[in-house]
Amino acid sequence: MWSVEELFGIDSLLSAEEREIRDTVARFGERRLRPHISEWFETGTFPAREIAPELGKLGLLGMHLEGYGCAGASATAYGLACQELEAIDSGVRSMVSVQGSLAMTAIWLFGSEEQKQQYLPRMAAGELIGCFGLTEPDFGSNPGGMRTRARRDGDDWVLNGSKMWITNGSVADVAVVWAYADEPGSDKPRVRGFVVPTNTPGFSAREIDRKLSLRASITAALDFDDVRLPADAVLPESRGLSSPLACLSEARFGIIFGALGAARDCLTTTIDYVRSREVFDKPLAAYQLTQAKLADMALELGKGQLLAIQLGRLKDRHEISNEQISAGKLNSTREAIAIARECRTLLGANGITLDYPVLRHANNLESVLTYEGTAEVHQLVLGKALTDANAFR
Ligand SMILES: Cc1cc2nc3c(=O)[nH]c(=O)nc-3n(C[C@H](O)[C@H](O)[C@H](O)COP(=O)(O)OP(=O)(O)OC[C@H]3O[C@@H](n4cnc5c(N)ncnc54)[C@H](O)[C@@H]3O)c2cc1C
Repeated sequence: MWSVEELFGIDSLLSAEEREIRDTVARFGERRLRPHISEWFETGTFPAREIAPELGKLGLLGMHLEGYGCAGASATAYGLACQELEAIDSGVRSMVSVQGSLAMTAIWLFGSEEQKQQYLPRMAAGELIGCFGLTEPDFGSNPGGMRTRARRDGDDWVLNGSKMWITNGSVADVAVVWAYADEPGSDKPRVRGFVVPTNTPGFSAREIDRKLSLRASITAALDFDDVRLPADAVLPESRGLSSPLACLSEARFGIIFGALGAARDCLTTTIDYVRSREVFDKPLAAYQLTQAKLADMALELGKGQLLAIQLGRLKDRHEISNEQISAGKLNSTREAIAIARECRTLLGANGITLDYPVLRHANNLESVLTYEGTAEVHQLVLGKALTDANAFR
């Protein structure tokens, strides 16, 4: 029997080191995470404190960053690690994305040398957990509308406002918070990033419960009530909305690979299932309708993997554009959720339980389709690239 990777000759496109990283992360996921994941999903928990140091030990936190205790791996290797983590659950990959691609990347790109020394090595080791606060209750796709404000009071900053849907928010030690900040010599505030220790008075986080998606991931609402920060809490190199958007591009890149990991897990589970499930006196696998579904899913998964590797290569050469990342994020998430749902049909009633991963993945992928730019937002990015006409407003 062929795997999708074999059908598309995927391994021939990867270096020995990339395959080794992929396989190491896959083994960790199967050993350490797979046995617990359905229980975490069912109870709506994720033991971030316990798992983060183990992810750190494997070099998966801030994996693509150089220096400060980070692994300095290639973009493609980072993508493959995301793929294997998301094959377990999108929640695990979200934790790693937010820590490495969002919170650590913000400090790495826009922080002072002191901020980098203070936070990055401990975040890379998983000793400190970070979160990234951009979205607000009323501003998700349009973060430029944000109402969170940082005003100057002497040398200090005073932060007021709120953030919503923040991954790791209620377990984080440190939050990177984006706010309109007073600009010297201007009456127009500008978006800037702030490094906020979560034990600062006035900072509060409330976990969002009753989620039907990404249940094995911590999501929180943050409130800032006169949070007083020292002058050096600002990320000095952050200037305008393009700064958080640069971090989002990094996280989106991981999703291009990650979502396909979830899809692959659905497909391999389903192939196993249909080979042993008998309907009308023969295995479900031997029906043409089943095979048509499997063939179509294998094609989309394989094409997605080829695109992901191509984008990985472009990123490794520092040649990738935001439009190309949008194309990959849109394709991977859309096809992954379609595969997860189609797999669920083949599992029949068994597919609706946590005994199999497919509906868990499908539900998770609803969030993955929405965060880091919704599918529609990426269609608009591509539409603008193709026509030069801006249809956002
Ligand atoms: C589980 C989870 C974790 C998250 N983690 C984080 C995090 O760690 N940090 C963080 O900052 N945010 C996080 N988010 C927030 C996420 O980034 C936002 O949900 C996302 O940007 C969409 O914003 P919204 O939910 O406000 O939807 P809206 O912006 O209100 O969009 C609603 C609908 O309108 C559509 N739409 C929007 N604009 C247009 C337009 N111009 N034209 C046509 N249609 C449009 C959208 O595509 C969507 O279908 C998380 C979200 C989830 C679900």
